[in-house]
Amino acid sequence: MAEPLLSVQDLTVEFGRGKSAVQAVDHVSFEVARGTTVGLVGESGSGKSATALSLLRLLPSPPARVVSGSAYLEGRDLLALSESELRKQRGGTVGFVFQDPLTSLNPVMTVGEQVAEAIRLHTSARRRQAWDRAVEALDRVHIPNAPQRARDYPHQFSGGMRQRVMIAMALASRPKLLLADEPTTALDVTIQAEILDLLSELRQTLGLAILLITHDLGVVSEVCQDVLVMYAGQIVERGPAAELFTSPKHPYTQGLLASLPQVTEGEQLRLQAIQGAPPSLSEPPSGCRFHPRCPKAFAECRVTEPTEVQFSSTRAARCLLYGGGQPEEQLGVPETGSSEWGRPPQRPSMWQ
Ligand code: SF4
Repeated sequence: MAEPLLSVQDLTVEFGRGKSAVQAVDHVSFEVARGTTVGLVGESGSGKSATALSLLRLLPSPPARVVSGSAYLEGRDLLALSESELRKQRGGTVGFVFQDPLTSLNPVMTVGEQVAEAIRLHTSARRRQAWDRAVEALDRVHIPNAPQRARDYPHQFSGGMRQRVMIAMALASRPKLLLADEPTTALDVTIQAEILDLLSELRQTLGLAILLITHDLGVVSEVCQDVLVMYAGQIVERGPAAELFTSPKHPYTQGLLASLPQVTEGEQLRLQAIQGAPPSLSEPPSGCRFHPRCPKAFAECRVTEPTEVQFSSTRAARCLLYGGGQPEEQLGVPETGSSEWGRPPQRPSMWQ
C-alpha cells in the first residue's frame, strides 16, 4: 500500500459507562491510501459506522466515547483535535455522504444554494463565485443541465440525483478523504451502479481516498481496492479485494460470500445464509466472537480469543485455524457456504 492518507490505530469506542458499557469498536487499526477506496464491510451492528463516525466525533457523546486510539490524517491526530479544529476537518479535508440524502438536504433551499453554501463555508469564495462553482460541482457529478437544475429544490430530484447532489456538496471543500456510509443502500440497482461508477470516477480524477461503509460485499467488489471485514466490533479479515474475494480466509468472510446470490453455469441461484444472528455487544461470546455461528469452530474457539494472523504485508485474519488451538474437536455447527471461491461476487441486489 502507498503512503497512507489516513492511519487509524487501536481505535476503541464505547457506548455507556461502567458495567453497562458496550464496546462497539474494539482496538481497530487500518489505513487508507491516497486515491484508493477501502471497503469497511459487515452486518448491521458490527461497528463499521461507529468506526467511521467516531473519527470525526460524529457520534452523540454521551453515550459514545472514544476510549483509546489515534487517527492520523496527513500527520494530524483527528482524535486529539480541539472542537474548533475538528469543525474545519468536518466537511473540509473530510467529506461525508450518508445513506439518506433527503434528510440531509434542506427542503426549502435550492440545491445550488446548498452546494454554494458548503463552498463558502470552507473557502473564501464570494457569493457569485460560490454559485458558479456549485454549478460546476453539480455538472461534475453529472446532473444534467446543471445551470438550470441548480435552481430546483430537493423534492424535484429523484433519489439517485439527490445522492449526486450530496456528493457534490461533499466535494465542495475539495476533501482528501470521503467517508461514504451506505451511500447506495436506499437506491435501486440501476441507480446504485451509477453512483458507484461516479465514486470510482471521482476517486480517479480527483485522487480522492474513499472509506466506503457497507453491509454489501457486492458493492465492495465493484469499487474497492482493499477490504476490511468487521464482526462484533473487530476487524476479522483484511486484504486486497481481488485476493479476499477469491480466497477468503475467515469463516465469517466465507459465509458472507456464500450468502451472496450468484449465477453458476447452469444459471441456478446459490444463496446460503450465515446461521444465527450477530451477538449482543453488551455480552459478547467468550473466545472467538464468531464461534456460536461458525461452521469450523472447535473447542478452543470457545475460550481463546484469536489474535490477528498475518499472511502477507496486506492479508490478515483473526482466526484460530491459522494459529493457536487444534481444530480437532468440532463443535457440531453445520457446514455453511461454498468452498468454491473462484470469482468475485456479482452485485446481489440484481436478484432482489
Ligand atoms: Fe471459527 Fe474458531 Fe476461527 Fe472463530 S477462531 S472463526 S470460531 S474457526
